[in-house]
Amino acid sequence: MAKKRKISLQEFLERFGTEEKCREYLFQMRWPQGFVCPKCGCKHAYTMSNGRYQCTNCRYQASVTAGTIMHRTHAPLTKWFMAMYLVSNDKRGISALQLQYQISVTYKTAWYMLSRIRKAMENRDDTHQLKGIIEFDDAFFGGPTVGKKRGRGTEKAKVFVALSLDNKGSPLYLKMKTTKDIKQKSVKEFAVKHIAKGSTIKSDGYRSFGPALTDFVHEPVKYTPKGEALHWLHIMISNAKAFILGTYHGLPQKNLSSYLAEFCFRFSRRNFTSLFDRLIISMMAFTVDD
Ligand SMILES: [Zn+2]
Repeated sequence: MAKKRKISLQEFLERFGTEEKCREYLFQMRWPQGFVCPKCGCKHAYTMSNGRYQCTNCRYQASVTAGTIMHRTHAPLTKWFMAMYLVSNDKRGISALQLQYQISVTYKTAWYMLSRIRKAMENRDDTHQLKGIIEFDDAFFGGPTVGKKRGRGTEKAKVFVALSLDNKGSPLYLKMKTTKDIKQKSVKEFAVKHIAKGSTIKSDGYRSFGPALTDFVHEPVKYTPKGEALHWLHIMISNAKAFILGTYHGLPQKNLSSYLAEFCFRFSRRNFTSLFDRLIISMMAFTVDD
């Protein structure tokens, strides 16, 4: 496994300290073989003063961020890169309030940038399905509700959690998605979208799971109060709660899915050499919701 590498601030500034450097980097990612007009395929363009590229043939103005999560923002590229750097260099993540001060933007802009970064993480992870052996369960996120029933049937946010394991039983990739309920239909929707057909799913055998998982090999595991069953999955759930509480100071139902996406993105790339590079790649992926 390659050694994990953190990019120093000095190295970051050398690579991404100016608008030109950021734009050049994104240009290389978008057009590794040189400029190609997205409209007519022409390979020649003028660089405009606003940083766009105008096709010499059809005069279409192409931008390095068009169609990506950074599109149509007024924030300079240097601030986007700085935000990505700060997000990926601190494993606890960064709040909008911290980002606001670090990169001198308004709270609203900091909040917007972070929500776009988390969206990019989510989009990226949604392109992969878990496969092999999967631990699966539902979980509840939220503060304690006084005088109310704990666990299933409470007012807390409901979340599906799936974790793939390697052949030694160690965790590989993680997915956590909020859900309106844990009925059969929702379980099936989650599983079909996020888990490859034919995978083995281990769950605690809650009544709605079995009939919902007919596309998979379902292995119900016996519930034990000490929690040996679905051991890693329950560790992930506590770690996700700690991450969100620590960084965002609460477990709000609003934005929960976005915080979970960030936690999963980080976890699934914990052994990658550079989270920052993975994040840039995710930010450049084209989005359909823009
Ligand atoms: Zn053109």
